[in-house]
Amino acid sequence: SATILDGRALSSEIRGELRDEVARFREQQGYPPGLVIVRVGGDAASGVYTKAILRLAGEIGVQARLEELPALTSADELRALLLQLNEDQRTHGIIVQMPLPAHLSQKMVADTVAPAKDIDGISPGSAGNLFLGLPSFLPSTAAAVMEILDRYRIPLAGKRVVILGRSNVVGKPLALMLLQRNATVSVCHSRTRDLTTLTRQADVLIAAVGRPRLVTAEMVRPGAVVIDVGINALPEGGIVGDVDFEAVREVAAAITPTPGGVGPLTNVMLLKQCVRAAWLANGLAEEKPDLSVPQS
Ligand code: NAD
Repeated sequence: SATILDGRALSSEIRGELRDEVARFREQQGYPPGLVIVRVGGDAASGVYTKAILRLAGEIGVQARLEELPALTSADELRALLLQLNEDQRTHGIIVQMPLPAHLSQKMVADTVAPAKDIDGISPGSAGNLFLGLPSFLPSTAAAVMEILDRYRIPLAGKRVVILGRSNVVGKPLALMLLQRNATVSVCHSRTRDLTTLTRQADVLIAAVGRPRLVTAEMVRPGAVVIDVGINALPEGGIVGDVDFEAVREVAAAITPTPGGVGPLTNVMLLKQCVRAAWLANGLAEEKPDLSVPQS
């Protein structure tokens, strides 16, 4: 049965690397990389998420703080806070917790956060850079999927990759990142017909849909690599992915478990990009080589 792609083990490995890197940054600069999370009238679920990021930041030595605003905060007040954070030399990364109250627009936030501090890659500028194959901050969940594929040395060039889901935070950015790596990419979605014919062609199958156990063993080509992004709470309790793990592990060559796959890496990738933002702000990052889109 399949090799388990262990997100928890990778997470711990990368956290170790980040701890060392942050210590190096601190030694050189005299202060740590800084992260601010902005939360406007958040619910309990987003509170849990925020706490997880703060805990992780603390563990690797990034100075993180939470700016909690009341639910009735006006767009002008939120914009003023973001502009102030844009100017603050010790704040290298800014994330605004979604969802926002209905009277506040996600677009305003994306347009206001400085591109150099947009560590979750939500702004049109970051998306544009990704589209053009230029260095960019990336949506952290999509970045987590790439990290798993890379750390397990899953070959991508020339491979057929099928992505289920076309969201702006997972499916769409993943398609561009994989294209950049010379994979042949198909993106499926709620209107796709004859899904199984497509998924059975995949050398690498990535599910980011949000439907419990949508991907069955029959949909997977024997020997495929299966990455499950979905996180679904079952009414009867428990959490499952978009992939029927127990059945699919019998046909796949490698598979991520849920929980314990992509999830543990998402926040780690966010922090990794915050540390990168801090180096960049000081002109110290080794920029990735130009990743111009292969045209041929
Ligand atoms: P979304 O709801 O924005 O998008 C879902 C996508 O699935 C849509 O593009 C839709 O067209 C497609 N879809 C719906 N039904 C389909 C079907 N039957 N076949 C094929 N495609 C179908 O979701 P999202 O934000 O991209 O998240 C997807 C899943 O990933 C959710 O379960 C979410 O909880 C999870 N998620 C996990 C992490 C993580 O850290 N691991 C982060 C973000 C999202």
